[in-house]
Amino acid sequence: MIKGVRTERAIDKGAIDQMYEEGYLYAKYGIYARKTHGCKIFKVPMNANFTCPNWDGRLSSKGCIFCPDFARQFTYDSFRRVITRDLRDQVSDQVEYYKKKGAGEKALVYIAFGTNTYKPLNELKDIFDAAIDHEDVIGLSIGTRPDCLPDEVLDLLGEYVKKGYEIWIEIGQQSVHYHTAERVNRQHGFAETMRVVKEAHKRGILTLIFLIIGLPYETPSEIVEEARVVSALGVDAIKLYPLLVMKGTRLAKEYENGKYRPISKSEYASLSADFLEHLSPYVIIQRISKDCGLDGKVVPKWRTHRFLVGPRIEKILMMRGTKQGIKHKLGLDMEELKPMDGKITATDVL
Ligand code: SF4
Repeated sequence: MIKGVRTERAIDKGAIDQMYEEGYLYAKYGIYARKTHGCKIFKVPMNANFTCPNWDGRLSSKGCIFCPDFARQFTYDSFRRVITRDLRDQVSDQVEYYKKKGAGEKALVYIAFGTNTYKPLNELKDIFDAAIDHEDVIGLSIGTRPDCLPDEVLDLLGEYVKKGYEIWIEIGQQSVHYHTAERVNRQHGFAETMRVVKEAHKRGILTLIFLIIGLPYETPSEIVEEARVVSALGVDAIKLYPLLVMKGTRLAKEYENGKYRPISKSEYASLSADFLEHLSPYVIIQRISKDCGLDGKVVPKWRTHRFLVGPRIEKILMMRGTKQGIKHKLGLDMEELKPMDGKITATDVL
């Protein structure tokens, strides 16, 4: 066994319970990771030059309407530093950089940009081997589409789990609703994710789903239903964020033509609070919002960074006197069906 990482798949519910006892209003990943690993964990982004079947013509050549050209228009400094360099160099430079900044002691390599399981199996193995080939790396977090995770790729990832690494797949679902998937040209539905989560868990792989709040034509009740659906699926974590309209995307054109209204700061905060209330208390929140640098973003005009938005959401929960999972309920409480003295039950009526 290596590096002292957890090998079991299941999320540690006891650690999450402890967090609520300590007063946290939702299951924050950073706190959870520190509790379960005994040290601060940070993520280092890595670019292994993946393309996407929704962009290279295999499924479509248009991409999702919000795809900022394979995310390369994002302007984080950390993303700028990882463009097309040797993979091992990328990881060691990033680990050194984040450690110097005091981000933590151990790292998860986050393979971002494009669809990061969309290559032949032997190439994937070389990439994943390079990504974990550093003494401070405890595992991988791989961003991908749910239709690009066949059994053989999951088997390969399962091999790293057996060796003691923590392996996450970050599934770009964005919405569980099929009408939205069609509207934004995802080229897949929710069935693919249902299969992937089940198959991943069999192999000890942890699962995370990306969900966007503010997608065109989604109603508040549909957003709440998303919380219920991902809870029922038993996903381990989510990343929640507002829809960011980036320059050059098709959605930017829709916005310019008055066909898309961006979500406001207060709408996002209040809908996220609703979402959290209906989400299982044991789904870890890896991200509550995100920003992307101001020069590439068209709307929302407000600053979407999680450090600014997270506290606002917490304030709403605090004012409501609620927290994550407070309204989470899947099905009736069957105790209610017991006959009560002097009261008519359904059986009496029949
Ligand atoms: S699946 Fe991801 S990378 Fe592919 S087009 Fe959509 S947003 Fe872009």
